[in-house]
Amino acid sequence: MSQDLFVYNSLSGEKEKFEPINPPFVGLYVCGPTVYNEVHIGNIRTFVSFDLIYRYLQFLGYKVRYVRNITDVGHLVGDEDSGDDKIATRARLEQLEPMEIVQKYTNYFHEMMKRFNTLSPSIEPTATGHILEQIELTQRIIDKGLAYESNGSVYFDVKKYAEKENYGELSGRKIDELLENTRNLDGQDDKKSSLDFALWKNADPSHLMKWNSPWGKGFPGWHLECTVMSTKYLGETFDIHGGGMDLKFPHHECEIAQAKAGIGKRPVKYWLHTNMLTMNGKKMSKSEGTFITAIQLMTGEHPSLTKGYTTNVLRFFMMQAHYRSTLDFSDSAFLAAETGLNRLQKAIEKLPNLKTSASSSLDITDFENRCYKAMNDDFNSPVLVAHLFEAVKFINSVEAGSAQITADDKLKLEQLLHGFVVDVLGILPESEAANRADDTLPKLVELLIAVRNDAKKAKDYGTSDKIRNDLAAIGIQIMDTKEGTSWEKV
Ligand code: AMP
Ligand code: ZN
Repeated sequence: MSQDLFVYNSLSGEKEKFEPINPPFVGLYVCGPTVYNEVHIGNIRTFVSFDLIYRYLQFLGYKVRYVRNITDVGHLVGDEDSGDDKIATRARLEQLEPMEIVQKYTNYFHEMMKRFNTLSPSIEPTATGHILEQIELTQRIIDKGLAYESNGSVYFDVKKYAEKENYGELSGRKIDELLENTRNLDGQDDKKSSLDFALWKNADPSHLMKWNSPWGKGFPGWHLECTVMSTKYLGETFDIHGGGMDLKFPHHECEIAQAKAGIGKRPVKYWLHTNMLTMNGKKMSKSEGTFITAIQLMTGEHPSLTKGYTTNVLRFFMMQAHYRSTLDFSDSAFLAAETGLNRLQKAIEKLPNLKTSASSSLDITDFENRCYKAMNDDFNSPVLVAHLFEAVKFINSVEAGSAQITADDKLKLEQLLHGFVVDVLGILPESEAANRADDTLPKLVELLIAVRNDAKKAKDYGTSDKIRNDLAAIGIQIMDTKEGTSWEKV
């Protein structure tokens, strides 16, 4: 490639020339989901954004090892160091084993990733599959004098670490300010300071997921798994670590501290963070209950939607915003994305049938350069999309007879559009999208659930039980929870 790729590194706060540690190989680690309920389209935006990054790096010829983990233990309610495990809480609610919850929502996540045409990671490790390594790293940090045991838990000693290192180098947080904000918690738990975070947590007898360790029965802290799995599969210092902006602090800040303390190296060269999908200006969030699932989006079964949309449309909607900008969910924006995508797809379909001429009124090399330039500027997909629409306009003009294209340029344009639309943006050609977007099943199930709810309201339990049992007989299980009725294919 003649042009250089620049990426915005959250660590320096600047766009930096991308120079992998060991080219052409690139190590990419992305924090994966905590598999305790249905991912919403906010989560999906983050994974689609990294899919774009993964695709473009490969498009440029890099050999990328993409590691995206599954968090199946240790992520506590409220993202704090105390309270219940999100997965165990859900297991109690659904009366399932924690590992059944993990399997169920991992399947769901994979299904969504497939529907959104994201490429599978090269390795998808789980936190519970790396307990030994997490115990080992905890011990190493204790041995370095930067963690301490307290009542069967082990905490990272942030103040001690900060004597020599900059705790806050990624997030810009200052120890004094952090102390001020959390002062009231001091002395209320096993920690020396409210700044300290758990590497290992002691499990009380009622805790469902626990392992033996030198400090007694317990489970690893949430931040530890990513340090262990990223360095295990990508090396002690690797190229790119990504996740949503909300993970910058404390999650990623703690990862840096753990790696520097235990391994003695800065773990990551480029930190990339994606911005949030918002709903009415607020972050879409599972814990706040302000979210919409992909199934709701596809069926249109949500008060904010006038109709259902394909995942291809939603993916295109996401590509029209830069990954570091917030993006607000709205029905009108989806409608606009649908119209735009339609225009783009129609033009791509028309292209092979256009009449060719002896000369071209399109500078194809300049068009190609500008497409690369957009993506090389920190994966600027909205600028790329704007260029693609120039091509649409051009194709329509050739069709109308007001512009010309040579046979060579036509072929080149076809290849370029396929490369940037399908390979880079991950937008499926219309025919394939139609196959993948067969959403008849979810629509039918949602319909039956609605009929069943009406029957229940009318105390017609015969009908409501029949719907549930007959659906179960064809492999569709419906579950009633406090949050409403959900379903899955079993
Ligand atoms: P979680 O399973 O909640 O830990 O989140 C999985 C990923 O989704 C993380 O990288 C989060 O940063 C990201 N995420 C959560 N909410 C949103 C949102 N509203 N928009 C974009 N990404 C999000
Ligand atoms: Zn992580």
